[in-house]
Amino acid sequence: MIRFDNVTKLYGNDTVALERVNLQIDPGEFVFLVGASGSGKSTLVRLILKEMEPSRGAIYVKGKRLSAIPRRRVPHLRRDIGCVFQDFKLLPNKTAAENVAYAMKVTGQKRRAIRTKVPQILDLVGLSERMDKKPRELSGGEQQRVSVARAFVSQPPILIADEPTGNLDPDTSVGIMQLLDRIQRIGTTVVVATHDREMVDVMRKRVVALDNGRVVRDRVKGAYADEV
Ligand code: ADP
Repeated sequence: MIRFDNVTKLYGNDTVALERVNLQIDPGEFVFLVGASGSGKSTLVRLILKEMEPSRGAIYVKGKRLSAIPRRRVPHLRRDIGCVFQDFKLLPNKTAAENVAYAMKVTGQKRRAIRTKVPQILDLVGLSERMDKKPRELSGGEQQRVSVARAFVSQPPILIADEPTGNLDPDTSVGIMQLLDRIQRIGTTVVVATHDREMVDVMRKRVVALDNGRVVRDRVKGAYADEV
């Protein structure tokens, strides 16, 4: 579903953000990308989204080489990849339901589809009762649920979350991770960049560890750090 072949990414001439990364993520997998701040997690995520090009090597998403996709086709690529961020990125003047509906509208979906799907997805994330609230009336965990709903409403084959629990307390974080787990069970490929050690340890998913831009560990049912 996602493949990195010997990918190196430099910023400027001397910042090596990723170095000769080889990684294959199969359809339906759940992968944690872990590593200290500055280890290259966000760079890897941004490359998958084709926000920028690798300096060397090749990246494939759904079998397509990203460098072969012209800029104007990037919105089409993004339809296959739902995104969740640490800071939620919700529109402050729109309700939970409107935030989700708006995302569908800008990707050109029909009004009828929006009317039926928005309540369904808000139900899936456990927010039916709060769908008419604006972000400021929602807790951090609820806001993150809205952003998961928005990312997943069109059921993209891939969901990527960059530090989704970075601004949440541990209990709330568990709820968000359970939600991502459910989304994987539906058949979605889920990639979560995080340095939330506890969460990674309880979930027992595949863990890919980065250190200074290199993949230093790849475990099927891993923990954040190797057991001693
Ligand atoms: P992480 O997400 O794990 O914190 P990043 O991918 O953000 O790591 O960063 C990897 C390395 O690249 C770090 O050394 C960081 O300082 C550098 N870096 C990240 N983004 C930029 C940028 N836009 N310009 C220059 N250097 C960057």
